[in-house]
Amino acid sequence: MNKNLICIENGSEYTDTRQERLPQAAPCVSGCPAHVDIPGYIALCAEGRYDEAADLIRRDNPLPGICGRICVHPCELVCRREKAGGYVNIRDIKRGVTLNCGKPETVEKAPGTGKRIAIIGGGPCGLTAAWNLAVMGHSVKIFEKMEKLGGMLRYGIPRYRLPEDVLDEEIENILSYGVEAETGVSVTDYASLSGKFDRVVIAIGDQKDRKIGIPGEEGDGVYSAVDFLRELGEGHRHDLSGKTVCVVGGGNVAMDSVRSAVRLGAKKVILAYRRAVEQMPADPDEIESSQEEGVVFDLLQAPYMVERDGNGHVTAFVTTPQRLVDDENGGRPKPVPVEGAEKHRIECDMVISAIGQSLDEEGLSQSGIETKWGRIVTNEDYSIPGTEGVYAGGDSVTGPDTVISAINAGKKIAYDIDRSLGYDHKIISKIEIPKPWIPEKPTARAAVIKADMETRLNTFQECERGLSPEDLLKECHRCLRCDRVIFK
Ligand SMILES: Cc1cc2nc3c(=O)[nH]c(=O)nc-3n(C[C@H](O)[C@H](O)[C@H](O)COP(=O)(O)OP(=O)(O)OC[C@H]3O[C@@H](n4cnc5c(N)ncnc54)[C@H](O)[C@@H]3O)c2cc1C
Ligand code: SF4
Repeated sequence: MNKNLICIENGSEYTDTRQERLPQAAPCVSGCPAHVDIPGYIALCAEGRYDEAADLIRRDNPLPGICGRICVHPCELVCRREKAGGYVNIRDIKRGVTLNCGKPETVEKAPGTGKRIAIIGGGPCGLTAAWNLAVMGHSVKIFEKMEKLGGMLRYGIPRYRLPEDVLDEEIENILSYGVEAETGVSVTDYASLSGKFDRVVIAIGDQKDRKIGIPGEEGDGVYSAVDFLRELGEGHRHDLSGKTVCVVGGGNVAMDSVRSAVRLGAKKVILAYRRAVEQMPADPDEIESSQEEGVVFDLLQAPYMVERDGNGHVTAFVTTPQRLVDDENGGRPKPVPVEGAEKHRIECDMVISAIGQSLDEEGLSQSGIETKWGRIVTNEDYSIPGTEGVYAGGDSVTGPDTVISAINAGKKIAYDIDRSLGYDHKIISKIEIPKPWIPEKPTARAAVIKADMETRLNTFQECERGLSPEDLLKECHRCLRCDRVIFK
């Protein structure tokens, strides 16, 4: 029997160690959408208790190795250590934990309930719901339209940020709890599953690209980032040698597109964005890495048209120069055209549009599932109004969001479904968390090791390699252990 995590059926007197220890939640715990016990696993990692640290994370997030690499780490942005050398590098501590821990111990599953749950979509939301429901003793089957599970983790995020073996290992662990998966099957008749399963979860993400809506956009030489990155995830590597590629957008998907184009051998990669770098929604580390890799930023440029020659080949991405004005509602400064400015030509052979994704609504309304503004409408408990036991979560409900938000939705859906079936399972932790320490004098946040530039420019090998063993321990000791100390 597993000593760290245990599943209790139908309520329990047992108090979670987290509730005893966190009279006032540490900011990082509140800032993490899945409320992972961050100071708890940092403290365990500091003592070299990696297996327990990993189990503690898995209680709330069954994809720790993945999140240790690609999480957008909202927890770090609220870390109290910020003013004393920079916020704690929480994401890379998690990565360090998963690199040092052994194979996950098997959590003792609750006795089988005989209840059957169908999950449509094998991305982080569907996978997390599946793991939690399986541990709670329910029979779970995932239906996934792609050949392999993973969703945007596999068919969006490029391998130089998330290696396939890390993804495969964590998915296999989830399946090892008895989760069944049927891949290569696209479900659009959602209503028909309701009759065959006790509960149905829709976790289909946002799979469609958004069009820019400019002349010349249709035709060869213009790709959506969703298609470009999906093909890469499927193993298809475009040969871009000798080509100039213009990527349109300013978010993380645009960053993945420019950095992938570099690795595919493009002669020059240009990013066209309608605001300034300060307003780019992309992670600052991604912006920095793309610039290190030679991507040229052409800022304050709004799309106007795709120019083609007589044979239909793309010759330029033409833009209207912009300037920024204050937003009267207090939002990001707004781009407006510079009066009298000439159109700007960005010469290129290929355009990749990375301006967002949207929900594929096929089959939803026919199954009685309401959508609004391109999102599935749900009640507070993630159930879908007007349906019998159908739930939805992840990007298909929120719009394009983050992996950790999708994980949290999957976890909450599992608990809601469990309760709706008359159970009260809780996945809890009995791990003893080390006593707090007095942090040493301010030290700077540890920097991650990056692959050499030759590797970064020419291969899809992992770019960021985490913290050195010494830095991992030092970084843990930078944590102020806000879980024990109440600040005024
Ligand atoms: C290029 C890119 C990079 C990103 N990088 C990051 C990042 O670094 N960090 C971060 O936190 N977030 C990132 N995101 C966002 C993150 O990937 C998503 O928020 C997250 O994957 C959403 O999870 P999900 O389970 O809701 O949907 P998805 O991951 O999209 O999974 C949905 C699954 O449902 C399947 N499906 C869809 N329709 C059907 C159907 N009809 N029948 C059967 N199966 C179906 C799909 O094939 C897919 O496998 C990125 C997104 C993209 C596109
Ligand atoms: S100092 Fe530690 S406990 Fe406090 S917010 Fe930062 S990571 Fe969390």
